[in-house]
Amino acid sequence: MAGPRKIASFRLPPLPTIGEVIKLYNLRAEKQLSQNFLLDMRLTDKIVRQAGSLRDAHVCEVGPGPGGLTRSILNAGAADLLVVEKDNRFIPGLKLLSEAAPGKLRVVHGDILTYRMDRGFPDVITKAWEDDPPDLHIIGNLPFSVSTPLIIKWLENISNRTGPFVYGRTRLTLTFQKEVAERLTASTASRQRSRLSIMAQYLCTVKSCFTIPGRAFIPKPEVDVGVVHFTPLVQPQIQKPFKLVEKVVRNVFQFRRKRCRKGIEMLFPEAQRLELAEVMMREADVDPTLRPTELSIPDIRALADAYSHLCSENQGLLTYDFREELRLKHLNRRPGSSSNGTQQP
Ligand code: SAM
Repeated sequence: MAGPRKIASFRLPPLPTIGEVIKLYNLRAEKQLSQNFLLDMRLTDKIVRQAGSLRDAHVCEVGPGPGGLTRSILNAGAADLLVVEKDNRFIPGLKLLSEAAPGKLRVVHGDILTYRMDRGFPDVITKAWEDDPPDLHIIGNLPFSVSTPLIIKWLENISNRTGPFVYGRTRLTLTFQKEVAERLTASTASRQRSRLSIMAQYLCTVKSCFTIPGRAFIPKPEVDVGVVHFTPLVQPQIQKPFKLVEKVVRNVFQFRRKRCRKGIEMLFPEAQRLELAEVMMREADVDPTLRPTELSIPDIRALADAYSHLCSENQGLLTYDFREELRLKHLNRRPGSSSNGTQQP
C-alpha cells in the first residue's frame, strides 16, 4: 500500500539574517517613510498565518523593506509574490532574496498608492465576485503614514471592483497603528466607533487578529500595532455609491458627541437645513437622538438611502458642501466683497 503522499514544500536556502541584511546594505530606518522593521521571524510567520493558506497562492506584499515578512510569505508556499517597495535602498537585498527563490519573487520599485495592481497578476486567477475569494492575497506591514489613505482607497476599489479587486474578493492582511486597528473593527456603541468602522464594515468582514507590541519593531514606534484581516463581502451592506456613503458618514461623525441629527443637518443648505433633515430622518426612520457612535450599519444604510432619494429630487444637493457655503458667507461679510465672494474694485 502506498504511504501518505508527501506535500512538496518550499523552504528558502540559508540566507543572512534580516539583521545582517540591514547591516550589509546599511539600511538605516527612515522616519519620513515610517520605517519600523520586524526582525522576529516568529512574528512575521504569525502575521502570514492570519492570511490563511498561501500554498501556491499569488501575493502582493506592501513595503517589504529588508524582507522579513517577505521570507515568511515565501516559506508559507506562495507561488508568485510581487513586492512593491518605495525606497530604492531595499531593492538590492530584495533582488538577492529573489535569486534564492527562483521564479517566485517579483520586485517592483514603486509607490503602492499609484501602483496599478489590476495589471500585476494574470487574468486566469480571476474569480466571479459571488464566488469564493481568488487565490490572491495582499499582505503588508504598512507604513503608518500611508495606511489610512491606502485602506480608504482600497475600500473604494472594493466598492467599484477595481484595482486589486478586478480579480474578485481579494483578501487583505495588514498592520495598522493599534488605535486605527481598533477603529476599523469597532462595533456599534463602542468608544472607538468611527467613520472608518462603518466604511470598512459595510464592505468587508473585518477581523482583528492580534496586537504586536511596539517593542517588537526596530526602531520602536511610539505605539503598538494591530493586525487586521479583511474579506470583501459578496453583497455590501449598503448598496449606494461609495462617495455618497462616505459623505453621509463624514457628516454624521462631524459632531461625535452630539445627537446624530446635528451632523445630518449639515448635508443641507442653510435655507432648507431643518426641513430636509427632518424629511431625511423621517424617511430613514432612525432615532435622531442617537449619538453617531450608536448608529448601526442598517441605520447608516437607511440614512444613505434617504439621502440618495432626496438628492434625486433636489438638483445640486449631492455636491453641496456646507464648508463651501460657510466660506462664501464669510467672504461676503468682508467689506467691499460682492455677493459671489469676489472683491469689488
Ligand atoms: N515589511 C518590512 C518589515 O516588516 O520589516 C518593513 C515595514 S516598514 C513599517 C514599511 C515599509 O514600507 C518600508 O520599507 C518603506 O520604505 C515602505 N514604504 C513606505 N511608503 C511606501 C509606499 N508608498 N509604497 C511602497 N512602499 C512604501
